Amino acid sequence: MKSNHTLLPVLSCALTLLLQGCTVTSHPLGKPAPGKASSSVEMERLIDQPGPIQLEAINSADWSVSLAGLVNLKSPAAIQAGLKDLEEPIQVYAHLVKHPQHGNYLVDTGVSRKLVDNPGKEGLNWVVQKIMHIEKLQIKKSTAEILKDMDGKLSGVFFTHLHLDHIFGMPDITNDVPLYIGASESTETNLKNMFVRGITDQLLKDKQPLQEWHFQPDPQNQFEGIVDVFEDGSVFAISVPGHTPGSTAYLIRTTHGPVLLTGDTCPTGWGWEHTVEPGDFTEDNKRNLKNLKRLKELVANHPQIEVRLGHQH
Ligand SMILES: [Zn+2]
Repeated sequence: MKSNHTLLPVLSCALTLLLQGCTVTSHPLGKPAPGKASSSVEMERLIDQPGPIQLEAINSADWSVSLAGLVNLKSPAAIQAGLKDLEEPIQVYAHLVKHPQHGNYLVDTGVSRKLVDNPGKEGLNWVVQKIMHIEKLQIKKSTAEILKDMDGKLSGVFFTHLHLDHIFGMPDITNDVPLYIGASESTETNLKNMFVRGITDQLLKDKQPLQEWHFQPDPQNQFEGIVDVFEDGSVFAISVPGHTPGSTAYLIRTTHGPVLLTGDTCPTGWGWEHTVEPGDFTEDNKRNLKNLKRLKELVANHPQIEVRLGHQH
């Protein structure tokens, strides 16, 4: 009897996992991220004025992956163009955001050399190593090197989403650094998460709890939500779910003008040009496409925005 009592919850949990999938990580959520809810009107009022941020886009690693993951090959535009799956060269970026008062932040993490040298030790089992072609990752500037060259300490990481290639730098990020994500990114369930959850957990192990941007509905309904991160109009987190439940783009007002970091809402130049969302590993293509169109519209209205895509420039 006793063993049945202990077995039943385990079995029902396994069944739930099979039926509904699981969250991308079991890493805990912390208190909400700082910043205040903003609006598209407020953001667009400021976009064209130079801001205080110094921004550096760093190509942390060259890589190549299947085009079917980067572009939805079943989209009408891809079919019309006759796109076929092939191996596409991409980059894994980290963006260094320097705020004159608030310090240094990364948008996504780049790639740690530890992960490339010893993926097994960082939690990547051999199946995932093979599927992801970790051996094709060629480090240009590791996360540790990015942090070493940076003036001062790292005050936080803003994630575009929690897919593995965006947290590959975590082995080099110290355990005291605050981590910020989009709403529902780590709490919504999906069957596909079963394959990566253990690895995501391992890469986030002992790190700070994840803090969600507290998006409110955009009064103009231009976007699903916008947060003014430092409450000074210098960095806006924009809620663009679709690729993942909490996908987030960032509009950054640099000293040279506005820069939009799309994350994997649009990873490739072809996808941006033809308004096609990414393919495999995208959880909600329709919603992804809708939010990609919204980002393109923002850029059409403010052509001076420099667009930096998830994996190509
Ligand atoms: Zn990616």
